[in-house]
Amino acid sequence: MARRRTTVAITAAAALISTSLVAAGSQARSPAVRDAALPEATADIATPEEFFGFEMGAEGRLAAYPDVLDYLRSVAQESDRVEYETVGETTEGNEYATVFISSPENLERLDEIVALNQRLSDPRSTTPDEAKELAARSVPIYHLEATVHSTEVGNGQAINDIVHRLATEDSEFTEEVLTQSVIMLVPSQNPDGQVKVVDHFDRTAGTDLARVYPDLYQKYTGHDDNRDWTMFTQVEARYRLGLTQKYRPVMTHIMHQQGNSGERIFVPPYGGVTSPNVPANSNASSSAVGQHAMRDLTAEGKKGVGTDDYHIYWTLEQPVGFFPFTGTGVYLTEIASATDLAYPQRSKDGGPLGPQTPTQDLIQPYDKDTWTLRDIVEYAETATYSGMEYVARNGEDLLYDNLYSAPREFAENGVASGVEAYVVDADQRDPYATFEMLERLDWTQVEIDRATEPFTAGGRDFPEGSYVVRTRQPLGNWVDQLLGTDEYPVDDLPYAEATTSLPLQLGVDVVPVSAPVEVPTDRVESVEVPEVSMPAAPPTGGAYLVRPESYGTIPVAAALQKANITTFRAGQEFADAGTTYPAGTYVVPATPQARRVLDTASADVGLQVTAARSAPAVEGIQLKPRTRVGLLRGANNMPGGWDMWVMDEYGVDYDVVGAQDFQSGRLIDVYDTIVLPQGISKDDVVEGLDPAKYDEEFAWAYGVGAKGWRKLAQFVRQGGTLLAVGDSVATAQELLDLPIEPALPDDDEEFATGGSLLNQEFDTSDMVAWGMPESWPVWLYDTQAWTPTGPGADVVSTYPDQDVLASGYLRGEEHVAGTANVVSFDVGKGTVVTYGSEVTFRSLPRSSFNLLYNAVYGGPAAEVGATQLAGLRPAFRADGTLRSR
Ligand SMILES: [Zn+2]
Repeated sequence: MARRRTTVAITAAAALISTSLVAAGSQARSPAVRDAALPEATADIATPEEFFGFEMGAEGRLAAYPDVLDYLRSVAQESDRVEYETVGETTEGNEYATVFISSPENLERLDEIVALNQRLSDPRSTTPDEAKELAARSVPIYHLEATVHSTEVGNGQAINDIVHRLATEDSEFTEEVLTQSVIMLVPSQNPDGQVKVVDHFDRTAGTDLARVYPDLYQKYTGHDDNRDWTMFTQVEARYRLGLTQKYRPVMTHIMHQQGNSGERIFVPPYGGVTSPNVPANSNASSSAVGQHAMRDLTAEGKKGVGTDDYHIYWTLEQPVGFFPFTGTGVYLTEIASATDLAYPQRSKDGGPLGPQTPTQDLIQPYDKDTWTLRDIVEYAETATYSGMEYVARNGEDLLYDNLYSAPREFAENGVASGVEAYVVDADQRDPYATFEMLERLDWTQVEIDRATEPFTAGGRDFPEGSYVVRTRQPLGNWVDQLLGTDEYPVDDLPYAEATTSLPLQLGVDVVPVSAPVEVPTDRVESVEVPEVSMPAAPPTGGAYLVRPESYGTIPVAAALQKANITTFRAGQEFADAGTTYPAGTYVVPATPQARRVLDTASADVGLQVTAARSAPAVEGIQLKPRTRVGLLRGANNMPGGWDMWVMDEYGVDYDVVGAQDFQSGRLIDVYDTIVLPQGISKDDVVEGLDPAKYDEEFAWAYGVGAKGWRKLAQFVRQGGTLLAVGDSVATAQELLDLPIEPALPDDDEEFATGGSLLNQEFDTSDMVAWGMPESWPVWLYDTQAWTPTGPGADVVSTYPDQDVLASGYLRGEEHVAGTANVVSFDVGKGTVVTYGSEVTFRSLPRSSFNLLYNAVYGGPAAEVGATQLAGLRPAFRADGTLRSR
């Protein structure tokens, strides 16, 4: 076949294509629809160079995102091959857009195509013969996502050339792509970051300042913005989910760049193990499109094409996440980056760039000593045209295999684990967690049933109202992946997370059942927060009680704090009106104002408030009124970004601790609690960002020097609460010489978890672990476990002596067994709590959030005696100062 870049007489070639497609599919097609010739492009459309004033990929020049949208809008205005749509607003108010590119005829009947793809995706309503007929009438959708990582700038430039070509060229190639497919282009999956990165780049031109934006380019998640494909916390992730669900692409092309020491471009196949829950057809088409691109890149003389890397299909939080489970192929391209975004990378030793040994994974090593932004643009364009061509040529097969056969495989044969249904007991210790889990299933269009009678399944009795989530449904594979536990199947270290068990992360009791569940059920139409109502107000001297088990108590406590409502917590178990309440129960004097706040806050999370005629006569604490919370997050610290999201989501009143806070006076006069999220080193605090490279805008992240470091230690000794998570435990240990030492060997050969859920035993009498179960897994991912080395280390939680792994992967169990995870210390007048494991990892392990937030408010709290709590006598004045006793 003629090379596709050349313009040749189209009619004969198109006829040849349609003949081969008929031969490939066994069903007759409806030629009137798909074989229509493409009308000639007549529009007068500016080239990107004419529009932006420079060639895409020109050294030192980047088209800004708003201008890219302007260009795409202008092309859509002129061309009947291009349609522009606004999807919605991003986290920071930028526009998330999508552009559909196809023949005018396909664009005209896009609704019909969508309806056909929707019907294909539910194999229960369609026989294979009908599905073949539907596939013949539809056209495949190629989802092209230009950037999700905002510093990977080349792809966002390339799309302007790509759209221009498809809108203006009359060639064999455009004829094939536009008549045989619909391109759904998302110019950026993270528009906020596109704006930040290019603005920063332009603003720093001609200065000595660093050119690359140094902070989180998505407000909360930064570079983790492609790690949100199970919880869909960010609006941008939900837009992508919505596009996938509506349009049912057969291929999702996610354009990335990688570092610049390796191959020049990575294309699938991927390396490593795959989950048996990823449809085989999804995996196979990902590999096929990658190989098609490799051949085209090679044929064009583009060297340095690598494959078989990135163990991504196992782990759900990885770039692919939810999407391949729908059957879509995931075509990830990773192109080597240039220097400072837009300047040439030159070889240091004068030799060619990248690895130089030819292998089957890198047939032709790159042979030049320079790599430019223009190279990135050209590689991106070839890889994209190739992917489009592959889908256009194989559309009918991909529609059938990826949209129809993939879900049918599981709906008919069941999932590999053999689980027929996951049963969610109606009685849960955390109803809010149960809601959040079911809501995520609902968002991904999983069908959830609710039992209308009590029943027995898997040897256990369940009450009426329990949920049954069956695996024999179109997304049964996703159900099994999300609700089951994982055993990583080989002894190679996982590329990243080795599990994403939602029940274990959120704290929900879910039972896998291997036989069909026989009970009458209703389909759940929408998942709602459990309905609760306020109890009758108790008499004077009475109190409202909120149990401490749910992480839904965090927004409730935050709301009480914000309204400055006097709030106690019982330090011991007690009984009231025949009900036992655990240590940590919130005790709120029953004022009308408290009632108003609790009414709203408890309804938001479905937590039942109860009323007691009198407060319990046990020891406890009173939360400090308006506790001043600080988050010392550092520049570009993603765990801190996720923590900001959690705090904003839950209404926690906090400030980011900045270098300016260290400049005068004492930290204790500004903050009660300072949280060090995962990944804050002494260097981050002391050195921080270099003022010579980053101007005033980033002054908050400058280093605070040795003097600031000492101030942080004084903050604790003067009564502050310091909470350190993950690697930051070592920072706190160094700051205050805490009596603990690392328990885990550094060597991956001896100990490794990837990211996994490990069992944990809690001392629930300790304030830090109030409301936790006696045992439940925590997330451990490349951070430390600890051994106390002397008195003064109160161990709050430990890994068990055996059976440590709950879900995922564990090498070297003996090293972690019996070691300490959460430890609390009194230091001077202050409190330190160290969390060796990442208890807030990417906002996922919500079942362990209370470990952090108990201490956020509990650290600065005042102790109250039994008589004082029974009498609801505050220890603090409303302004936060202590009354004299
Ligand atoms: Zn990337």
